[in-house]
Parts: sequence; structure tokens; C-alpha cells
Amino acid sequence: PVVTRFAPSPTGYLHIGGARTALFNWLYARGRGGKFLLRIEDTDRARSTPEATEAILKGLEWLGLDWDGEPVSQFSRIERHAEVAREMLEKGSAYKCFSTPEEIAAWREEHPRQPFQSPWRDATDLPDGPYAIRLRAPRTGETVIDDAVQGPVRVANDQLDDMVLLRSDGTPTYMHAVVVDDHDMGVTHVIRGDDHLTNTARQIQVYDAMGWKRPVFAHIPLIHGEDGKKLSKRHGAVGLHEFAALGYPAVAMRNYLARLGWSHGDDELFDDAQAREWFDLAGIGRAPARLDFKKLEHVSGHHIGVMDDEDLLRVIEDYLVETGAKPLTDQQKSRLLPALPALKEKAKTLPQLLEQARFALVSRPIDIEEKAAKALDSVSRGMLKSLTAAVQHASWTRDELEQAAKTVAEENGVGLGKIAGPLRAALAGRAATPSVFDMMTALGREESLARLQDQIE
Ligand code: GLU
Repeated sequence: PVVTRFAPSPTGYLHIGGARTALFNWLYARGRGGKFLLRIEDTDRARSTPEATEAILKGLEWLGLDWDGEPVSQFSRIERHAEVAREMLEKGSAYKCFSTPEEIAAWREEHPRQPFQSPWRDATDLPDGPYAIRLRAPRTGETVIDDAVQGPVRVANDQLDDMVLLRSDGTPTYMHAVVVDDHDMGVTHVIRGDDHLTNTARQIQVYDAMGWKRPVFAHIPLIHGEDGKKLSKRHGAVGLHEFAALGYPAVAMRNYLARLGWSHGDDELFDDAQAREWFDLAGIGRAPARLDFKKLEHVSGHHIGVMDDEDLLRVIEDYLVETGAKPLTDQQKSRLLPALPALKEKAKTLPQLLEQARFALVSRPIDIEEKAAKALDSVSRGMLKSLTAAVQHASWTRDELEQAAKTVAEENGVGLGKIAGPLRAALAGRAATPSVFDMMTALGREESLARLQDQIE
């Protein structure tokens, strides 16, 4: 069975690149009935914080990536890492190195551009005193990473030093810990950023030394900005939470991020079930993907448009909570829900939708912006009065309301637009709103007529 993992270092928020790595691992596992595990790589005690772990978990939850079991703390496993290093020592695939940092620096000065070769590798007469445990790595031949994305990557073994597994203070190195953890967690597929590719040859040597089966490695190209440069703060939003705050629903982010570096023919828009079914390592490209906000808006608009109204309402409520806005009242919800079919057709993001939904969220007396107020002169107020009378007993369907408005406009010798302006002002207090008839059906008879009445007197 497939086991993947996401292994973030808890030193900050969840970066969009990390979110995509997590998504790829999640999709790969979920599409194959496998497991998706989470490991918090918190061995760097100075830089790791519980707040960062919290932020990362929250980001994954927001994105809808559920993991199996409890998150594993790498730091909590350092005894196990040490145990494996000692086991390798016993088997002879590792050795004690007594070289001091000064001696290593001096060796390097004498052998520029050469990986460090410890004089203790084959020593038989060992002193007392602190030592590091180093891997007895092959000195000749090459280590080949059979990468599922990059193809075979060859590294000459004489270019790699005997890496330290356990430092002289007894703490494991990160590179050693990763291998032990991935092995113990039963990870079958390591999907991660290609910034880790250079580590992989060394990690493979540990698998081989222990006689452990290597996982499948898939190193995915990093995400670049629109200018083709490595993504950074300069490009705008880079934290997943920033994208959430911009009002892209999680389902849209999943779709968009899946397409960032992976493709399935020409399919741009898909749902979760399709993504799970289609996702595979063969579809991951070798060139860095570019973050494209226009495309993201398009994907977002699509998902808002096809979302079930009740789901969309929940997404909106979560968004309001997340952005610190007031939660919706029952009355606001009951007015917003019937307005959603019309609203979701046009909105590309949640704030765009909320802007158009304003009429459903405000309550009387409606605050009327200056631009909208211009439409409310005595003539138009008169038309509102006629309309109120005409629709008093109407069945309140869109068609019937529109017909009534047309009749009033005709009677006054004006076009429909002349009555739509004051209607917008009365119903929403704005000059730019959804269709007045959509607003009236969403608000219902009583509230609509009350808002009109407020402007007539
Ligand atoms: N902790 C590493 C990082 O945050 C990931 C290591 C891995 O995936 O093997 O970049």
C-alpha cells in the first residue's frame, strides 16, 4: 500500500509551495487507498516553534488535506535515530570519527574542493573522547537516484563525504533522521521540492547501508512567480493563509495548486474526485510552474459557480470568521441563501461575492451611498410608489416583478433602466448591484416593499 508524507519544518507559516507539496502527497495517497502521514521536523530547536506547527496544521485543515494518525514529532524520535546510528556502527557501515572542527577545517584548507575524508575511517586504535558517527559511504562508483520526475540522477560517490549521522553531542543530523523516520513510518513515496534533490544521494546511502528498501523519490520543481523568478514575498501572497484571506475557496486552491506543476491533458478545471483519480507522478513536469493570479481567479470563479448553495454559504461563513468579520445572523443567512444562485454566477472570489451580496446583509434603514442617491429624485420616487402598488399582491416571481416594472416604466414614458436605478438605491443603497429582480426575490415581499416604502415617504 502507498504511504506518503508531508514533512514541514515548523519555522513559519505554511508556504504555498509547501501546501502544494502536501497536496501532491495527499492526492497520491488518497487516489490509491493509501495513507498520508504528517511529520513535524522540529529537530532544529532554535527555529522551531509550536505556533508554527499550529499554523501549518491549520493551513492543511483549511485546505482540506486530512492526514492519517497523529502528527509525528521528529524531535521526539532522536533516541531512535541514535539507536540506528549505533546499529550501523556495530555493523561496520558507520564509524567513529574523532576529528575536531578545527582539524576538519584544516583538512579542507589543504584539500580544496574535495569532500572531507576522515582519518578515522579505517583506524583501529581508537582514543577515548567525543566522537561523531559517520556513514562509511562508498568511495568509488556512483549513487543513482531513480527519480520519478527528474529521471535518473547520478552522483559520483567521490563527491560525497562520509556524512555525520550522530554528532559528538549525541544529536542526530537532519539527513539521518529523515531516513530513519521515513523508513519507520513505512513511507513508500517521497514527493518533495527539488531543493532536496542534492540530499537524496546521501539519504539513499543510508537506506543502502541499513539494507532498507528505498522509497520512490519524486522531486518536484519549485514554484516561480509570474516573472519566472523563484517565488518570494515580492510577488505578493506566498502564505496559504494569504490566499485564504483573498477569498479563494479551498476547493479552488486545491484545483489550482494541483495544476501548478502537474497536468492531466488539457484539463484545467476539475473536482476533488477527478483530481484523486487522475493524479500521478508521470504528469508532474520538470519545469518550474509559474504562479498566475489570473488563472487562479478563473479557477476560483468556476468553483464558486458550481458550488452547492448550502456549501457556499458555509464557505462564506468560514471566510467571515477567518477575516475577523461579524458572523452572519439567521436573517442575513435566510436572505443570502436565495440570492446565491445569481451571485455565484459572477463572483470570482468571496469578497467579490460579498460586495454584490451587500443588499442581503444590510438591514433597514438602508444606508444609501451618494452615487445611488442621485437616482432618487421626486419623479423616480413616484415610480417606486406606483411599482409598490402594482406588486403589492403579485406572486413575487422574477417574471412577474419584471413585468410590473416594465409597465410602470411605460406608463411614465421611460425605459426600464430609469426605474432600475431608484430600485437599486432603495433595495441596496448602491449603484452597482445584482439584478433588481434577483434582489427582490431574494429579499422577499415584505422586506422589499418595506425598503421601497422607506424611500417613498
Ligand atoms: N522538512 C523539510 C522541509 O521543510 C522537508 C524534508 C523532506 O520532505 O524530506 O523542507
